Amino acid sequence: DMESLTKFPSTLVELLDGFKASKAMFVACKLKVFDLLKGKAHLKAKDVADHISASVCGTERLLDSCTALQLLKKTNQGYSNTGLAEKYLVSDSEYSLHGYIMHANDHVWPLFTHLESAVKEGTNQNHRAFGKNVQDLFQDSYYHSMETKLRFMNAMHSIMKLTARDVATAFDLSRFRSACDLGGCTGTLAQVLIQEYPNLKVTVFDLPDVIENVSGFQPTGQDTSRITFTSGDFFKDNIPEADLYILSRVLHDWPDDKIDALLSKISDLCTPGSGLLLNEMVLDDKNRNRSAWLQSLNMLVQTEGKERSSYEYRCLLEQHGFRNVKIVQTGSLLDTILCTKC
Ligand code: SAM
Repeated sequence: DMESLTKFPSTLVELLDGFKASKAMFVACKLKVFDLLKGKAHLKAKDVADHISASVCGTERLLDSCTALQLLKKTNQGYSNTGLAEKYLVSDSEYSLHGYIMHANDHVWPLFTHLESAVKEGTNQNHRAFGKNVQDLFQDSYYHSMETKLRFMNAMHSIMKLTARDVATAFDLSRFRSACDLGGCTGTLAQVLIQEYPNLKVTVFDLPDVIENVSGFQPTGQDTSRITFTSGDFFKDNIPEADLYILSRVLHDWPDDKIDALLSKISDLCTPGSGLLLNEMVLDDKNRNRSAWLQSLNMLVQTEGKERSSYEYRCLLEQHGFRNVKIVQTGSLLDTILCTKC
């Protein structure tokens, strides 16, 4: 009938609007709208506009769009946060995604505007998005200023907070006494690991740029004496000895030759029975895990790496002398793979 012929496919409508919805949420976060409405606050558009030093007409449209996106509620008393915004978008809430959203807005968004070039050229777009040639991804891009460095660290900290418990408990790791989280950034996973495993000590190994700045990310009133921070470059320097090595969102940053070098180095340090835990988004055969496939595009525009399938990880690990490869696809933001050195 006529109606079904003219009805626009809803999947496409969602995709057409996707980028507008993302940007509306990013901007409301950046302007600290959800912070202003924290708790039970109700404010009119004019009051929000005054607080965030923005136009009333623009603020009103942003607030109404956020209401349509179910991030805000609107009543006669004004706008207020929904439960979702209160839990994840207020910047100082325990499981806030604010840090990750700022990274998405300020770093990933400009890179994605060059997706077409990335696809044609098969390379990242740091030069187009930020006007500089990137030799060393971390030194020249993420960590080139204190502001970008803290933004990146905040992003990793916030996204890991949401996933650390699932990652730490996907396998029983209680047989390990020492772990080394290579590229462990602010130590978010380490904090959860020591809670879950009372006999485990964790060394967080990361670049000096990161380790110099981790203190602001440590929990207060919690015993962190079983966590040690060590700085170094895992490609150039010695890495600490441990029963269990952890690589979370590290392999996806690098091309095959670098991954081979890193896995060989880890494998050489391992003794029979040592473990290696990989945490990444694993690509599925049926292309259903949309976050993982989009994350692989994300790696294309910003790094020299990519996401891999469970088959690819299994091959990589077996090539480096690891066996008994077990994969848990959590279906959430990180999947996890445990294997043993034979
Ligand atoms: N593991 C954290 C997580 O999953 O949230 C952070 C992942 S982040 C994508 C990659 C981490 O690897 C960063 O913290 C970065 O500083 C670290 N890294 C990059 N190159 C490194 C190197 N050569 N030596 C040590 N750490 C490095």
